[in-house]
Amino acid sequence: MFTWLNKPWQQFVQSHAQGRLPHALLIRGREGVGKQVLAEQLAAALLCEQPGAEGRPCGRCQACGWLQAGTHPDLLWVRPEEEGKAIKIDQVRALNTRLATTSHAGRYKVAILQPADAMNVNAANSLLKTLEEPAADTLLLLLAAAPGRLPATIRSRCQQLEVATPDRDSARQWLLDEGIAADSAARYLELAGGAPLLARRMAAAEDGALRDQRLEQLQGVFAGRLDPVQVAKEWLEPAGPEVLEWWRSWVQALLRWQLGGQPPVEEDVAQKLQQITETVDCRQLFEMSDRITQALNATGSGLNRQMMLEDVLISWARLAGPARTRTISR
Ligand SMILES: [Zn+2]
Repeated sequence: MFTWLNKPWQQFVQSHAQGRLPHALLIRGREGVGKQVLAEQLAAALLCEQPGAEGRPCGRCQACGWLQAGTHPDLLWVRPEEEGKAIKIDQVRALNTRLATTSHAGRYKVAILQPADAMNVNAANSLLKTLEEPAADTLLLLLAAAPGRLPATIRSRCQQLEVATPDRDSARQWLLDEGIAADSAARYLELAGGAPLLARRMAAAEDGALRDQRLEQLQGVFAGRLDPVQVAKEWLEPAGPEVLEWWRSWVQALLRWQLGGQPPVEEDVAQKLQQITETVDCRQLFEMSDRITQALNATGSGLNRQMMLEDVLISWARLAGPARTRTISR
């Protein structure tokens, strides 16, 4: 679990150890700060059959197995049916019914409402009845980034558990440890208001878009639609992961495919680069992989990066056959 969740976790462990666990906890904190991770950990601590030191879930018992698979019958999730929409009264009624029955495993029943501030008025009123007459061994976890949107009657019946936003330095360090480049980490942390998980999601989305773009550029250069010199220029900006790393992993996946293995795990790679596997042979792919490795090894050696990228991209375009290489400018 993330270090910045230690404080609310310890608060929970203490009240549990003292037998003072409330029936409902309102877990509040900024979007992307880890409220769900904390809620899942609290649920696991109550449902695990053999919690270890400090009440942590063991991760090995049957209950922990069910939790990891997302199939534990005593952990109930209530989320909007469509993202961004409200949690409706029917969903809360169904929850109330489930909570009124005995637990499957003979332990706690835990419900996570995420985000609780997405309940509409009717849903909130329906939940209020359960909060006023809670069943034994039941814990409701209400997750809210904007708890002020919840009716005061609901808030007053919940004990509050705050997930504070970590300080910038620890959040930044955590993002770096997650493999995010330093400039991206700083930029997205700013955009995410300091919430590390939201910053990581943003960085991953950008990486995904960039990866798709790189793949399409490689396809375009191979098909003669794009000019390798122009693409090399666009690759000069060192944004996100090293493009050569991606490229090499794709070429190696194509090689394995040609040598009689499975198509690449990433389906779009197989689709977009299929033309290449049909046109070139193993020897050419081996050479390509070596060229990319050489370029990778030369990175940072002071060699002109644009020239280097141009060279590799031009060899890539030449794979398509001698007929087309004449049209390539240099
Ligand atoms: Zn366990």
